[in-house]
Amino acid sequence: MRLPKGDDEAVTLLRQAIDAGLIYIDTSRGYGDSEIKVGKSLKDGYRSRVILSTKWSPWVQMVEETDRPTAACTYKRLLESMERLDVDRLDFYQLWNIDSLEHWQQATGKGGMLEGILRARKEGLVGHIGFTTHDSPGNISRYIDEADWCEAILFTYNVMNQTYRENIAKAHAKGIATLVMNPIGGGMLAENSPVLTAAAGGLDPIEAAHRFLSGDPNVDTVLCGIRKPSDITDTLANFAKPPLVGGLRSTIVEAYARLSKKNLGLCTDCQYCMPCPQGLNIPGIMHTAYLHRVLQCPEAAANHYRWIADPAKNTTAENCTQCGECGSKCTQKLPIPEHVGYVARHLDSGSQGKR
Ligand code: SF4
Ligand code: SF4
Repeated sequence: MRLPKGDDEAVTLLRQAIDAGLIYIDTSRGYGDSEIKVGKSLKDGYRSRVILSTKWSPWVQMVEETDRPTAACTYKRLLESMERLDVDRLDFYQLWNIDSLEHWQQATGKGGMLEGILRARKEGLVGHIGFTTHDSPGNISRYIDEADWCEAILFTYNVMNQTYRENIAKAHAKGIATLVMNPIGGGMLAENSPVLTAAAGGLDPIEAAHRFLSGDPNVDTVLCGIRKPSDITDTLANFAKPPLVGGLRSTIVEAYARLSKKNLGLCTDCQYCMPCPQGLNIPGIMHTAYLHRVLQCPEAAANHYRWIADPAKNTTAENCTQCGECGSKCTQKLPIPEHVGYVARHLDSGSQGKR
């Protein structure tokens, strides 16, 4: 997902990664030209050295307006991915981002996406089938019970966010491959944050994050984003070190847990404050404020803010009228207008938030 812009640079980087020993490639039709670049890098004998996985769903990416979560549409998109990757077989194909029971039923019900992938597997085009998810732990637990076809699940999991720890253990116990994305919190743990650095117990925060994962026996594979050669060498060096276990692991996990929104009594993303009469994404702004003022990660805050607020649609924090409607509905009794004002001051007017 984070490959360099130029094809040649991306191919060189991917081949460096494979030569260094990284073997699982996760891509998607939805990652711009990632499939094309990966395909180019897999020429000259590199294809047989990797496990290649791609994914799609209509709720993440509509290629055409007529796209639906049907077997026929999924089979068509799968063949197109193979064409873009220029391969005659995919090792894994995944239902992309099952984030609700409704999506699960659409994807796995009669005539749904899964049937299209099963057809491809029967034809020898796909080796294994899985899904990726950000759904609730309760729903995921049900999916693990139901899905006798499932061979892999991709979860968000890191030292700072252990929401799916039990799901990962359950999937692993059932023999489902557990894949982890966001090992450094989508880049957050790589930020120059005094708060996060202090929580890492004297280790480099990225090293602590990687060794936390290698110390979890239920994690099979970690997807590490690479942008530059040092990402490859640093990542491999961290995973070559001893896994984080015992007392140091507990100390670090507890220090990060103390920074969690849950323990600080902050926004739970319950959405009860919505809708805002001005059209603001209040939980998104609350998370921006958390990244900026609690974790002291201005870059991560700015990146998140760009994603959830759009100046063209007047949904940035400076459009808040301080009406107070949200505050009276907040389940956590949080001073929402004050946090929105903070984001307006620091991200709308400050350099971090400028687009
Ligand atoms: S105080 Fe601001 S964020 Fe809250 S509902 Fe009113 S306009 Fe929306
Ligand atoms: S009601 Fe409060 S806790 Fe719930 S999403 Fe809104 S700000 Fe967050």
